[in-house]
Amino acid sequence: MKVFLASRNAKKIEEMQRILREHLPKIEVLGLDDVEPYDEPVEDRATFEGNALVKAHAGLAATGLPSLADDSGICVDALNGMPGVLSARWSGPPKSDARNNQLLLDQLADVPDERRGAHFQCAVAFCHPGGEELTSGVMPGHVIRECRGSGGFGYDVLFVAEDRPGRTTAELSVEDKDAVSHRGWALRRMAPIVARILGDA
Ligand code: IMP
Repeated sequence: MKVFLASRNAKKIEEMQRILREHLPKIEVLGLDDVEPYDEPVEDRATFEGNALVKAHAGLAATGLPSLADDSGICVDALNGMPGVLSARWSGPPKSDARNNQLLLDQLADVPDERRGAHFQCAVAFCHPGGEELTSGVMPGHVIRECRGSGGFGYDVLFVAEDRPGRTTAELSVEDKDAVSHRGWALRRMAPIVARILGDA
């Protein structure tokens, strides 16, 4: 069972492969480095779902393989849900997790602990010759005041999940993060759909 995963984010691909393999042991996941280069679409939609669909459709069109894509980000209550779909490039080009995290810390500098709520959101799209499927997942929590931990990626160093208090998601084991993460939820919902469509678990 071959599936193409349309992403350049190595950490994200690692997480997605790990979660998918657990539920679809026979799956062979190909990444952008395993296929002929193609023009990757601009992620210019207003929603995670819209961007995930754009990426998965482009993957299917370019490779002919059933294609999965995720779009994700952090939505901060005190910032009216920003950066949301703009999470990856929030502090401007070139993309930098360190600069994004510093910007988030600066913007929340005067925000008291009880108003530092945030959630990660993830949409996963699966496009195949017969149609398209969408699932999503959410991880609620809050943003702390200093970076902590060395695992994960992106805003993990600043985020404490409601279901794993006391540690940032960058301080969790990969199993712990997968169990509560937005991507974990979205992919666990998608795995049986992929298995049904490709006719194999
Ligand atoms: P995109 O989905 O490639 O547009 O980028 C998602 C961006 O959101 C990443 O570059 C991170 O900044 C952030 N993000 C998404 N998921 C996570 C996560 O699990 N941990 C930390 N940051 C994340």
